[in-house]
Amino acid sequence: MAPILEDTARTFKVLVIGGSYGGLSAALNLQDLCRGKSPRCGPAAKEGDAPVERPQFAVDITIVDERDGFYHLIGSPLALASEAYAEKAWVKFEDIPALQAPNIRVLQGSVQSVDPETKTAIVVRGNGSQATDLHYDFLVAAAGLRRAWPVVPQSLRKKQYLFEAGDHIRAATKAKHGVVIVGGGAVGIEMAAELKLVRPELKVTLVHSRDKLLSAEPLPDSVKDESLKLVREANVDVLLSHRLDRAEEITDDVTGADCLRLHFTNGHLMLADQVSLAVSKSVPSTRFLPQNVLDEEGYVKVQASLAFPEPTPNAADHLALGDMIRWSGIKRCGAAMHMGYFAAHNLHQRMQDKSDEFLSLAEIPPMIGLAVGKKAVSYWPGAGVSSGEDVMKAFFGDDLGFTICWNHLGLGGDKITA
Ligand SMILES: Cc1cc2nc3c(=O)[nH]c(=O)nc-3n(C[C@H](O)[C@H](O)[C@H](O)COP(=O)(O)OP(=O)(O)OC[C@H]3O[C@@H](n4cnc5c(N)ncnc54)[C@H](O)[C@@H]3O)c2cc1C
Repeated sequence: MAPILEDTARTFKVLVIGGSYGGLSAALNLQDLCRGKSPRCGPAAKEGDAPVERPQFAVDITIVDERDGFYHLIGSPLALASEAYAEKAWVKFEDIPALQAPNIRVLQGSVQSVDPETKTAIVVRGNGSQATDLHYDFLVAAAGLRRAWPVVPQSLRKKQYLFEAGDHIRAATKAKHGVVIVGGGAVGIEMAAELKLVRPELKVTLVHSRDKLLSAEPLPDSVKDESLKLVREANVDVLLSHRLDRAEEITDDVTGADCLRLHFTNGHLMLADQVSLAVSKSVPSTRFLPQNVLDEEGYVKVQASLAFPEPTPNAADHLALGDMIRWSGIKRCGAAMHMGYFAAHNLHQRMQDKSDEFLSLAEIPPMIGLAVGKKAVSYWPGAGVSSGEDVMKAFFGDDLGFTICWNHLGLGGDKITA
């Protein structure tokens, strides 16, 4: 076992804001490193490698999240189509074995402000009446993006979320005139395809204002064309170059039922019972951070080490990662988990006063793995475009990536050995 460093009579207090892919990765990789173990999301040791001696530190990790559990965000399109999956996609923090350690505590609350100079965060808990000051030595911000309904459920408690998802699912099931998903980005594509997969009897239409799906993404046309092919194969109707103007409530003359008449700017009209907007721009959840660490859109201007930008007071003790940072590449959960490992490594170095041995994040090229019903499309430079059921299996398993993420983060328990 690695030696405990001499000055570790001291316990480092680490505050992690956000208990999702990025935040949990930072917390649990740090937990591994501070116990002298290999970090669970770090590079796998090769056969014959000498065991790495890592200094151990006493650390208290507090994770604050507005939700009462880990929500598998990637699974949202399926969680909002299938009640059985909705139950699986949200695991309360108290039911996650890896977090049940005496030095890890999870608080349900919303961080309102952070003062890097005094290293204090203000957290509001409960119904907003209790404000608590939390003092820390190191801060990891992993608060992601604020996303609108129905892209993401808005409930903060599992119980409430199951009602929210259930109501949405039941409304879609009754939709005799069909469901229209507006927005042909990655989220809209997955929402339409998952709904059709779970409810094949429903008429599902995906509407996009541009002439190609994924038009906002910096991806080659071959990825966009392959995605369209798979969406059509999944029996989703696709209307490209159609911009929704308004939805009018009417009574259908034929069925006598109330429904919506959709008006498109090109004059096209259609009936639907439910319209889900997958178009609103998500905004970084960074209002609690000082303005000078943010860019004009609200993303954190991190250094390659993930530290806050200079000249923030105590910049190297404040890290941000995941969707909330300004960095190249498409926002992905794989990137958030990878950055969580980088953050843990760099904090462990910082505990050793080795700030010159930080890991630096490289530029990330555009890459994507997109689930479209039973198949998936993947693209990254070097590999090019692939699609099919085998791609689905490799990228998402059979539960839209829940088990893959759960295992990668080692949430089921302390499976890593030194
Ligand atoms: C529908 C959908 C499908 C997707 N599909 C894929 C996919 O197939 N593959 C892929 O790689 N990526 C996918 N993504 C993107 C992926 O989900 C994100 O990249 C990933 O969630 C980023 O992780 P994160 O930890 O940075 O942030 P998040 O997952 O957004 O987590 C942030 C956490 O911070 C908490 N929080 C926010 N503000 C505060 C505050 N002030 N105080 C306390 N807590 C706070 C939130 O409650 C949340 O739990 C998808 C996203 C969506 C919406």
